Amino acid sequence: MPHRILIVEDNENNRILFRDILTFHGYEIAVASDGMEGVALARELLPEVILMDIQMPDMDGMAACRILKGDPLTSGVKIIALTSFAMRGDQETFLAAGFDGYLSKPIDTRELPLIVKGLLEQEMNGA
Ligand SMILES: [Mg+2]
Repeated sequence: MPHRILIVEDNENNRILFRDILTFHGYEIAVASDGMEGVALARELLPEVILMDIQMPDMDGMAACRILKGDPLTSGVKIIALTSFAMRGDQETFLAAGFDGYLSKPIDTRELPLIVKGLLEQEMNGA
């Protein structure tokens, strides 16, 4: 069974890029284009990892993360914050909001699959 990853990102080019990278690495990918859709899909699909953009219209990534981490159904899902370069200094804020990791954009195409793999290994070890 391939691991299932949910990408929540409002920028279409980024969605396609992240999906293509992770598909290439053998993951099964679902995509959502805003926080609201992301929360709904996370509840429906129960992915193992979510890549969550921070800056999105309507419901942003911080709000979506708080909802998912506050719900027993989805609180165990690992969530990676995708941040803009300018926000990279806010690491503590993201971790305090419940994120399990963060990546700043533009994404390092080699780092992305490594971070996902690391979180999946944590999950398998019960962390
Ligand atoms: Mg965005």
